[in-house]
Amino acid sequence: MAEKRDYYEILGVSRNASEQEIKKAYRRLAREHHPDANPGDPEAEERFKELTEAYEVLSNPESRRAYDTYGHQVPRGAGAGGYPGGGDPFGGFQDIFEAFFGDRFGGDPFFGGGRTRGPSRGADTEAEVEVSLQEAAFGAEREIRVQTVKNCPVCEGIGGTKSHECPTCGGAGAVRMVRESILGQMVSTQTCSTCRGQGRIIDERCENCQGSGRVSEVIRRTVRIPAGIEDGMRLRVSRAGHAGEPGAPPGDLYVTVRVEEDAELMRDGEDLIHRLRINFVEAALGTEARVPTLDGSREIKIEPGTQPGTTLRLRNEGMPRIRGRGRGDLKIVVDVMVPTRLSSEQRELLEKFEKASGEETYNGSANKDSFFERLRSVFR
Ligand SMILES: [Zn+2]
Ligand SMILES: [Zn+2]
Repeated sequence: MAEKRDYYEILGVSRNASEQEIKKAYRRLAREHHPDANPGDPEAEERFKELTEAYEVLSNPESRRAYDTYGHQVPRGAGAGGYPGGGDPFGGFQDIFEAFFGDRFGGDPFFGGGRTRGPSRGADTEAEVEVSLQEAAFGAEREIRVQTVKNCPVCEGIGGTKSHECPTCGGAGAVRMVRESILGQMVSTQTCSTCRGQGRIIDERCENCQGSGRVSEVIRRTVRIPAGIEDGMRLRVSRAGHAGEPGAPPGDLYVTVRVEEDAELMRDGEDLIHRLRINFVEAALGTEARVPTLDGSREIKIEPGTQPGTTLRLRNEGMPRIRGRGRGDLKIVVDVMVPTRLSSEQRELLEKFEKASGEETYNGSANKDSFFERLRSVFR
């Protein structure tokens, strides 16, 4: 499959085009490329579809924002166009990222597409950054360095210091072929074979790039990590990938975000889980305990008679919701420590305690919710 084109590029508008401008561009292009207006052109229908898909995504502010951040990551084929109009443009983040991860990087490492019209767009690049749980929660900025192929600055990507315009295609890099068939006149565009799509013929090879037109360099980029990001998610930095052939746009940079595990706070979607250890006397008598939170720590009250596996929920102390407002919860799971080494004095005290206890001492501890039900409630 050919590399998916950038939606802005398809509509021929800038990345900060207004809604009005996008609508206008779509109206104009849709009229031009409508299959009914192009009988006998098999590519018209494809172009029209591509155009409509671009418009559907960019005309909705929510899906547009998503596209600006994550690029073409919505699995195709499910429903019309993938981004359902007006609804949630994601469906489920994880699925999208996985679906995307699957088969994007197949094919030629430098020029992904099999496009025959004009110069090829640059290939996408990849990078990885690691952030702490706190950074994942509140957002962060990271400078990343990526080895990137650029057009040679000496020859501007042509590969030669002296060159002349290709006489076959007049510099376009592509030629139109008109062929008579039983269905009528068929028009197709093919890469010019004289200049191999470059549009220019080299007279003198460029020393700087040995004629390849390309040089590789490490570029630095500052990437903004959005609050609430999950481990394994990918961010798109538009046009920060490898350079395209002269005249074509560069590819995109995809940054995979790894979220480090935290020693105290375990992530469960938008919620966080902390295991709080108290001893059996504290569990019986009640106590106050300090628990870690994303923002620091907090004192919480443990009621007398707290059972192992009891979960206390601190509302809005979890991870920010990446797709909505507010934050998840912090769930404190109480773990009760039972002594393992008793002195003879301690043993005596406990034996005395046991003698003074009856069934009513433990009333309600077992029959209210079972231990397993309490634990199950942690993970919902
Ligand atoms: Zn060069
Ligand atoms: Zn040519």
